[in-house]
Amino acid sequence: MSALLARAEDLYERVRTCDLCPLARTRTLSVPGEGPLTAEVMCIGEAPGANEDKQGRPFVGNAGQFLEELLAAGGLTRPEVYIANVLKCRPPSNRDPAPGEIQACADYLGEQIALVDPLVVVTLGRFSMAPYFPGQTISRIHGQYKIIAGRYVVPMYHPAAALHQASLRDVLKDDFRKLPRILDLARASRAPRMTPEAVVATAPNSQPAAPGPSPAARSPEAFPSISRTEPQQTRLFE
Ligand code: URA
Repeated sequence: MSALLARAEDLYERVRTCDLCPLARTRTLSVPGEGPLTAEVMCIGEAPGANEDKQGRPFVGNAGQFLEELLAAGGLTRPEVYIANVLKCRPPSNRDPAPGEIQACADYLGEQIALVDPLVVVTLGRFSMAPYFPGQTISRIHGQYKIIAGRYVVPMYHPAAALHQASLRDVLKDDFRKLPRILDLARASRAPRMTPEAVVATAPNSQPAAPGPSPAARSPEAFPSISRTEPQQTRLFE
């Protein structure tokens, strides 16, 4: 097992047995999240619903089905995307997450972001958007990315919102259609992974490497956890 996978398994086990907030007493299963640890895109939803609570997996109900449609509009498939939630346990009757619950769960999401180190984070709904776009409303900024510590964060409506308000279906699809271009921009600015040749070339006493593109500074540590709010750089997507 790779070190990354071992860290993820450890995190998932801590989420499964978590009792940091009262939702531990009402949940059936907690929902750590799922997807490849190498995913370029990470979607962050709000909290498990009834289906997710039963199965222990994120977005398995109607909202999940629509999310898969939306990902397809963005040229993506579910298996290539990492999916997490702000809360790992279902709030009773699907009520809004409470501030104390969000706080109790924040480090788990921060760990997931650090582990997966995605190029693009898609926030789904207002609860996952809030820390990155303080004071903003989703109706104003949906589909517009912001670069935070070299990572692209794109706020989207929650797929479940379109199940209640049909007019949001096309809005969401149009926003997801922007993802390929945003992903291209993010790939172009990502610090290249070190190839074996590069490792040798940058070893002490080696000749200087040929100049390459200037990579954006992007390290997992540089990305704020969900509980931090300060924006670092804003660029809106036209
Ligand atoms: N809604 C969410 O925000 N997350 C899920 O996992 C399911 C529905």
